[in-house]
Amino acid sequence: MLRSIAGWITTGTRKSRCLPIHSRTRYSTRPTSANEQPVTQDPVTDSTGSGKKGRPPGTYAIWAMEVIGGASAFIYYLHLQTDLLKPKVKERLDPNKYTPLMLLEREPLTADTTRFRFRVNRPRHDSQQEELVDDIISQGLWALDVKDHLVQTYRTYTPVSYSVSEVVNDARGLREGHCDLVVKRYPRGSLSRFLHATRVGDHIEMRGPILTWPYSPGAYRRIFMLAGGTGIAPMFQLITRVLSNPDDTSTKLSLLYGSPSESDIIYRKELDALADQHPDRLYIQYLVDQGPSNIAKCARPDKEMLAAFTGSFDSSNDIMLVCGPDPMLAAICGPKPIGPSQGPLQGVLRELGFTNKDVFKF
Ligand SMILES: Cc1cc2nc3c(=O)[nH]c(=O)nc-3n(C[C@H](O)[C@H](O)[C@H](O)COP(=O)(O)OP(=O)(O)OC[C@H]3O[C@@H](n4cnc5c(N)ncnc54)[C@H](O)[C@@H]3O)c2cc1C
Repeated sequence: MLRSIAGWITTGTRKSRCLPIHSRTRYSTRPTSANEQPVTQDPVTDSTGSGKKGRPPGTYAIWAMEVIGGASAFIYYLHLQTDLLKPKVKERLDPNKYTPLMLLEREPLTADTTRFRFRVNRPRHDSQQEELVDDIISQGLWALDVKDHLVQTYRTYTPVSYSVSEVVNDARGLREGHCDLVVKRYPRGSLSRFLHATRVGDHIEMRGPILTWPYSPGAYRRIFMLAGGTGIAPMFQLITRVLSNPDDTSTKLSLLYGSPSESDIIYRKELDALADQHPDRLYIQYLVDQGPSNIAKCARPDKEMLAAFTGSFDSSNDIMLVCGPDPMLAAICGPKPIGPSQGPLQGVLRELGFTNKDVFKF
């Protein structure tokens, strides 16, 4: 292959690719008459007629040109079609090991909750790593483990948005994107205080995506969601994915979202905009514990309220997702043990007749 590429490049025309240079230099192409023998040259006999064996003059130079031309073409091909000649792209998602991602911006959402935007890069061409990332994300809701490198502890957080441009940034030689985390600061919390102390430009180690809830379009008729505080994160990821997926046009979504006060409602503007755009598919009911508000006040959804919210729940076609602070989970569906186990279904949902298979706790 190299020789034919070399021949093509050094002769410069497509036609001459059929006749490599070395062929033409060794054999005469002069037209011959019927009684005239074609003049040929013994490729290994000196043309001076001295009888001395050897390569014709210039043969090695032509070979060298061919090799250099072929190598150049090959390098140019690698440069255009692969990332093999590029420096290794950093700040990529990796499900198998922690990778530092740079904090691009931070935006306070409420008194104790901030949105953190991290830069995520992708090489120009997807490698196995990107294919693995896409594969995990395509299987359902996902999260990232975030590590405090100073004390080597980690906690899990659910990105509320993630996107990477299809367009290559030529200056950086890669595709750029971002991933947003919404994190509540707990006064004595280890990881949440560490994250809230970071500054734009800092690098934070993350590992993921990690599949948290398997979901495929059309798997349920209606998805019911009970969220408290930053428990909105997985629900927001789900809502935006379902409503933007052209393959998921029939799933309906019902969200009951509780917050301490009206000013603590996270992403209210975005949620209301989505409900306005999809009135037949997204229903949202807010609850607040206290403060001046037109929103129904209820420190924790009680049996009567949940009975009204889940009135149309159909066990064979629907699912109930619950995410929020531990006391909320304990009251509504029973605590979720650390790890993959869901624990037994308890609390108000059990009293209402829900079973383990109807409910998923984050
Ligand atoms: C799948 C999944 C997704 C999640 N997604 C999100 C998300 O998107 N956003 C988000 O904000 N959270 C999310 N969480 C919760 C998150 O992982 C952490 O649990 C949370 O941020 C608290 O971590 P921390 O290290 O700050 O607190 P921890 O140090 O773990 O402390 C937990 C609680 O104990 C209290 N506490 C700590 N030390 C003491 C002490 N000595 N005495 C008394 N009380 C104490 C803290 O104030 C806090 O209330 C998610 C959890 C899971 C499992």
